[in-house]
Amino acid sequence: MSLFTDDIVSFKSVLRLSYNFLAGRNYLKKKKFTDKKKLVGIALPFSDLVFAASAIPVFPIRMEQYKIHNYLSALGSASSLFGWNVTSKLLGFAKQFDVLNILDNVLDDVIHTINEKYNELYDLGIKNGVSNDFCYGITNLTGMFLSKGKNIDANLNYSIRCSAWNKYSESLKYIIPNSKQIWIDIPPRNLGNSVELLEENIKNAISELEELTGNLITDNSLRKQFQLGNQIKKIYNSILRNSCIDDFYPCNPATFAEILVLLGLSFQDLNSDAQSYLENITQLQNEINERKRKGIGMDVSKMPKLLITPVFGGWEPETHEILYKLGARTIYADWLIFKFLEEIPSSNNSDPIEEYAKFLMNITTDGIGYDQNALTDNYMNSAKELKIDGMIFNQVFGCHSIANCYTLLRNKIKRNLEIPTTVMSFNKIGENIEQTRTRLEAFMELFIY
Ligand code: SF4
Repeated sequence: MSLFTDDIVSFKSVLRLSYNFLAGRNYLKKKKFTDKKKLVGIALPFSDLVFAASAIPVFPIRMEQYKIHNYLSALGSASSLFGWNVTSKLLGFAKQFDVLNILDNVLDDVIHTINEKYNELYDLGIKNGVSNDFCYGITNLTGMFLSKGKNIDANLNYSIRCSAWNKYSESLKYIIPNSKQIWIDIPPRNLGNSVELLEENIKNAISELEELTGNLITDNSLRKQFQLGNQIKKIYNSILRNSCIDDFYPCNPATFAEILVLLGLSFQDLNSDAQSYLENITQLQNEINERKRKGIGMDVSKMPKLLITPVFGGWEPETHEILYKLGARTIYADWLIFKFLEEIPSSNNSDPIEEYAKFLMNITTDGIGYDQNALTDNYMNSAKELKIDGMIFNQVFGCHSIANCYTLLRNKIKRNLEIPTTVMSFNKIGENIEQTRTRLEAFMELFIY
């Protein structure tokens, strides 16, 4: 029997998020060829400007063809005929006859399907000459562009304080020579006139997006997009800061961890449709609350809460399953830690370009910018906010930026929080699972009181 024996089919929102992630290829084809929209590649959650230009942001792995779980594709076809409400009632009915618990595996299957694709694209990157010295994330991103990058009209690059990342971004002009490369250079430090410089860089990128799409990006269109994004962030934040620390989960913690994985992956391009993403994540929050109200779910008060981070550059997805079997629950909260969930002020008298510049600067100086002190402080603050009982640091092979901060982090946590920490090394999905299991078993010994 599967570990994920929860009533996942009644989480309509999760099924929709999964379906929209995996069915991206057809959706994007329609947008490009029927609606004549421009597709703009992005990586990391940087979709706002693209939406404001009425173009379609795409995290390139979503252009891939996936083997979609039969039930999920049936659901996709049925939903276009009957709508999602009727479809999920039908699924609820089907569930009564699901003696093999096939439906319970839908989400698990989605995550495995995506991870298989990640590995396939990693291999493609290596085959095409990406050096073994690069991290998993950069290698499979390169693979994504090699595989389907020719379909995008432009790529929006943000320089961050990781030289490997910037080198990879530079290489895209050779990999997808027919797509326009648009750059936003983020100054590495907030000194003197950095924000003003960044505002200029944003304005240039906006002009290029306007030229590409033929649409004007006005202050109003930017504010409208920020408001939409802020609503999504508010709910995402609430799921992390409230639902994750509750002693009662709306499903078992392994399933809940998979929901967090799905949110983390799909948040990058909002499944290319911000409005529909907002509806889905709102519904997810409602479903979580409703299940708790009805007492559907699991008492997790005796299970230590463990934060695994960073995972955006690649990690072993079996980890939360192993931890669940060992009696723990797993939280993934990279976008919160790296400041991507900060809201962007969007009132009528705000200057949206200045606010966006400050948002990006904040990500660089306090979030993903890899100032070791700021980054480790962030980890500490997030650990406190999320009331975690232990931290598992994911040390990605080939990362010379984030991965280096573990020693400093461990010492700070030891001094200030007094919770256990451990480190896992990661190279590629599926490698070293037994080593990971052994390390986690030893780590879990620390929680046997
Ligand atoms: S910070 Fe590390 S994991 Fe992230 S892109 Fe740079 S090298 Fe890769």
